[in-house]
Amino acid sequence: MTASNSILADQLKRPIRDLRISVIDRCNFRCVYCMPKSVFNSSYEFISREDLLSFEEIRRSAELFSRLGVRKLRLTGGEPLIRPNLEDLIRDLNQLPLIEDICLTTNAALLTRARADSLKQAGLQRINISLDALDDATFMKINDVRFPVQRVLDGIDNARAAGLPNLKVNMVVQKGINEHSILPMARYFHDSGHVLRFIEFMDVGQSNDWQLDQVVSSQDIVEMINAEMPIEAMGAKVPGEVAKRWRYRDGRGEIGLISSVTQPFCRDCNRIRLSANGKLHTCLFATHGHDLRSRLRSGADDAALSEFLKAIWEKRGDRYSELRSEKTRSLKKIEMSYIGG
Ligand code: SAM
Ligand code: SF4
Ligand code: SF4
Repeated sequence: MTASNSILADQLKRPIRDLRISVIDRCNFRCVYCMPKSVFNSSYEFISREDLLSFEEIRRSAELFSRLGVRKLRLTGGEPLIRPNLEDLIRDLNQLPLIEDICLTTNAALLTRARADSLKQAGLQRINISLDALDDATFMKINDVRFPVQRVLDGIDNARAAGLPNLKVNMVVQKGINEHSILPMARYFHDSGHVLRFIEFMDVGQSNDWQLDQVVSSQDIVEMINAEMPIEAMGAKVPGEVAKRWRYRDGRGEIGLISSVTQPFCRDCNRIRLSANGKLHTCLFATHGHDLRSRLRSGADDAALSEFLKAIWEKRGDRYSELRSEKTRSLKKIEMSYIGG
């Protein structure tokens, strides 16, 4: 394959940079805002084994995307660490010459020290760990499988010990559920060397009964933290960065705020998502995907596949968060556990 010379841009002149790959739609948690048990139970139809993209199909897709401008890969799910032999995929992706960054988003339930070491050895560069509270009562109410906080904290320590730097901890904040955990989380991760990022609760999928009044705005979070531990805004490191960065005035660390509801950042959105069964989605709030798997499996050559991917990006005009309204909220959107966070 040869690199294309012209810069690929969508309808809003946004380049393609970031490919989020969901490696599995299953999960060992049942977070109430993502995979509520009322929906994700024994009658739910998860993607079957034969319908999952193979590692070779994922590698080939990532390589084609890298020729179109993608430089960053994020592995997600569902829970990516339950996909067997994930390290083999990371090793393959690490061979792609144009890829600069490979990151994993996980709930850390399976992140033992040995697993963290093997991920690092396979070529994983960074890891984001989700944790929504510091007390078991709240965290268990959210994960809904009685998973204790300490084991996630152990996972964070294991990642650090394995030499995975720039670790980020992601906390989804929901009013009335875990807003009381904002300050304990900020205190715990202040001066830890890890960046704690607060994510506004979003109306992804159909299952979480999202309401605007359940969102705690980033502005409120900043004020709450600033009152106890003064912080100041920082500039973005790279264009398209989703989190607004704030540093503690005492010089001991920073936090991030992902404000997709109150301060949408669609203008810079350079992300595309590949689901575990090979559908491409140009927005987190997409109502349908483009079928890459059937093309991969029907013997299409690289040139044909590349044209298919280019055409999808060139037609893209998504800016859901900027247009969010009663009307857009009632669209039949794809679940977060399927599309990948
Ligand atoms: N299972 C992994 C994890 O939890 O880190 C990876 C997949 S999960 C879908 C990716 C991220 O999406 C997690 O940080 C999760 O908290 C976040 N997420 C899920 N549903 C969300 C929602 N409705 N609003 C905001 N963030 C959400
Ligand atoms: Fe699983 Fe992650 Fe969704 Fe929680 S947020 S149910 S850990 S996929
Ligand atoms: Fe990107 Fe869609 Fe999110 Fe806007 S709403 S930032 S286009 S994923």
